[in-house]
Amino acid sequence: MSDSSLSSQVSPPKSIALFGGTFNPVHNGHVMVARAALAELAVDRLFVLPAAQSPFKPEDAPAPAALRAEWARLAFEELDNCEVDMRELEREGISYSVDTVREFADEFPGAELFWLIGADHIAALPDWREAETLARLITFVAVPRPEEGVVKFPVPFCGRMLSGQPMEVSASDIRRRLRTGESVDELVPPKVAEALEKGHPF
Ligand code: ATP
Repeated sequence: MSDSSLSSQVSPPKSIALFGGTFNPVHNGHVMVARAALAELAVDRLFVLPAAQSPFKPEDAPAPAALRAEWARLAFEELDNCEVDMRELEREGISYSVDTVREFADEFPGAELFWLIGADHIAALPDWREAETLARLITFVAVPRPEEGVVKFPVPFCGRMLSGQPMEVSASDIRRRLRTGESVDELVPPKVAEALEKGHPF
């Protein structure tokens, strides 16, 4: 290996996208968001961060962490520069994005940080814990969900929209289908469909 290829391998990423969610379970809409970030934002690395417990769904216990992490690994394994990061699951309790963002900012000083969200989450950003700090540390990037008009980022956030490929799929619909025995084959990546067929807690 030449010196230059070696140094390019170890050079720190200049841009990083973080994609948090419950991923209960992961589905094609999530994969579309990751693909849009890699293609349109052209980030060097993308970390998928399954939450231990969403602050916005405190009553709903999601599927066990190990299962959600495994489904996420299967869903994202084909994407270059994309990995599932276990820190929010390992931290346990409610997963606050600001804690995660602080860790990444410390770990990758100088990297530009982006937080990916579906456009349905934009309006509620001011309710996120330490919203002002978050808005300072990271740029929010939204991907449209179907029938979502143009959504303006609320103060103090300034973010951007990607085009993506709006996709009518949600984890709640998948859990409903799994409970009623309907197929989810068109809605999740094939390896995730196989894993769900072997067993799931929904
Ligand atoms: P649920 O139906 O249980 O509320 P969900 O499908 O929205 O779940 P989450 O894990 O809560 O999945 O979402 C993680 C992130 O992915 C959120 O920012 C959400 O807006 C985004 N997201 C989920 N589905 C889509 C989709 N079809 N298109 C764009 N973004 C999506």
